[in-house]
Amino acid sequence: MAGKLTLNDLDLKGKRVLVRVDFNVPLDKTTGEVADDTRIVAAIPTIEYIISNGGKAILVSHLGRPKGTRDPKYTLKNVAKRLESLIGRPVGFVDDCIGTEVEKAVSEMNNGDIMLLENVRYYVEEEKNNADFAKKLSAFADLHVNDAFGTAHRGHASNVGVAKNIPSAAGFLMEKEIEMLGMAVEKPNHPYVVILGGAKVSDKIGVITNLLEKADRILIGGAMMFTFLKALGREIGDSLVEDDKLELAKEILERATEKKIDFVLPVDAVVAKEIAPGVETKIVRVDAGIEAGWKGLDIGPATIALFKSKLADAKTVVWNGPMGVFEIDDFASGTEQVARTLAELKSAVTIIGGGDSAAAINKFNLADEVSHVSTGGGASLEMLEGREMPGIESLSDKKGKKKRRLMVAGNWKMNKPPQEARMFAGFLASSVGTETAVDIVVFPTALAVEGVSDILKDTSIKTGLQNIHPADSGAYTGEISVSMLQELAVDYVLIGHSERRQVFGETDVQTNEKLKAVLKGGRVPIFCIGETLEEREADLTNNVIERQVKRGLRGLKRDEVSKIVIAYEPVWAIGTGVVATPVQAEETMKYTRDLIASIYDCELADSMIILYGGSIKPDNFEALVSMKNIDGGLVGGASLQESFVQLVVIAKNQA
Ligand code: ADP
Ligand code: MG
Repeated sequence: MAGKLTLNDLDLKGKRVLVRVDFNVPLDKTTGEVADDTRIVAAIPTIEYIISNGGKAILVSHLGRPKGTRDPKYTLKNVAKRLESLIGRPVGFVDDCIGTEVEKAVSEMNNGDIMLLENVRYYVEEEKNNADFAKKLSAFADLHVNDAFGTAHRGHASNVGVAKNIPSAAGFLMEKEIEMLGMAVEKPNHPYVVILGGAKVSDKIGVITNLLEKADRILIGGAMMFTFLKALGREIGDSLVEDDKLELAKEILERATEKKIDFVLPVDAVVAKEIAPGVETKIVRVDAGIEAGWKGLDIGPATIALFKSKLADAKTVVWNGPMGVFEIDDFASGTEQVARTLAELKSAVTIIGGGDSAAAINKFNLADEVSHVSTGGGASLEMLEGREMPGIESLSDKKGKKKRRLMVAGNWKMNKPPQEARMFAGFLASSVGTETAVDIVVFPTALAVEGVSDILKDTSIKTGLQNIHPADSGAYTGEISVSMLQELAVDYVLIGHSERRQVFGETDVQTNEKLKAVLKGGRVPIFCIGETLEEREADLTNNVIERQVKRGLRGLKRDEVSKIVIAYEPVWAIGTGVVATPVQAEETMKYTRDLIASIYDCELADSMIILYGGSIKPDNFEALVSMKNIDGGLVGGASLQESFVQLVVIAKNQA
């Protein structure tokens, strides 16, 4: 479940965001007004986040079961009104969810606007996950945010189908459900105690069997206790029982013994002759049996005490199903006491799943006291059963690189005379010349720059110069100035390459002058930094980086720096065949990015492209470029051959 795209990963500004919310709310049968707005309230954080980040929130939901007809009973019109008053902003409403009317309304939206579409289940195609319908539903949106955990166990068009067409991210509600229930299913802290109750064993077989594999203790209450007690030969009077599940109950008990799970059944029960308020009740010990004519409607005080002791040291608790008929106060005490016990367990993760269980915790006003109350109903049960959840599976995978573009730059150094350079440029043009998912730059020798840039001018590949002189013109024999690039399609200039520094003694002062000249000339500098082996061994890496960056950028303004690409090339890894491990490279590059943040600000640092350089090859590049702070490579030797194309493909797959 980890690794799914979430709301925080998205760049929402100006984006049309199709938000699948769960507005399947109960309506008042006579007035049609929203009878309970819990689900609307729950969706607000996601909606607010989208609009406050400049997105356009286009909300879509189902309501009831109109079965593909436009039954006015199930219109979302009143939901739009309620949302409007809850969120305190206008909420547009379109009485369809696809088609020209919707498209027109969306095209008229401003950033920060909210619009609700009509019930998506007015179309049968929704529940059939029809691909054409999903296309129409995503035609007017750039992004999909799925916040409807309640339908995550279903693969419908508005939650699953659309994710094939546009990126799909989890909303805040969905994210929390995945995190909390996912933790309970996949990696709970122990002791892990599961409390099960509710009406029927048959509803909960899946949950019991799955959690039998994981829990340390299972506490049973609710009507389902009587099926277990009867299976053990107890008298249960007129209590609710599923006679066809007695064998299954025995099997579950055996499995629990085998697995050494503490399977705890109630020791007493509150019984009555009728399920009604104010009737005569008694507390009966389970081993004494319940007389005919009486039924068990709640767990008794001794059971409450027993359950409390079983919960005392719990680190994870999952509770599904009320302990009794909690809707009636006379039979609510077991449910209430268990709820209070959970609320007091502050060092445990406490999770409540199931519709009636959530209603119970709300009734006692304890929802804020537990870690998580799932809004999912059936979806939370299926997740606790360990089943596949189509609405979660379909979310897009998180990518390491969503924020910044990736770049693959080839430094040809003093290789390839003009004709060979042109030929190789032609080869690159035909193999990756239309690639736009990553930025590609080549740096031929100065003599070949004109020819190469000419060949590449109509492709997506850019050309750069390997070095520059900071002056504009004059008595600098052998040098080239930025102004001379004017006539050429040369967009990049390498500055401060380690060979310039090591072999030609270039200083930080000079790199600073060159950076200024290149920026002034409107070209993009690739500013190289990196430590030598001696410096690394003397543990001076960060000092060297800090010095090079601070001196190199001295006097540059924020918006000038924002145009620079940095290339971190540990000198000991250049041309030596020694490659920094991805972790080593990531560490120093993160340091570099943090340094930029400390000199300027986080936003600038976050958007800065930082490349790694040093013995990059197709077989080590993927691991490097998958690191969070590595935005591509400045490639030496491997840029002289076909391997450069492979590197571009590797980067593209990560973009
Ligand atoms: P959830 O929705 O949380 O999964 P269930 O739907 O399984 O829970 O069960 C809730 C219902 O079980 C409640 O309506 C409650 O009244 C009923 N219930 C609990 N204990 C008993 C009992 N001893 N006899 C009859 N009904 C019970
Ligand atoms: Mg229920």
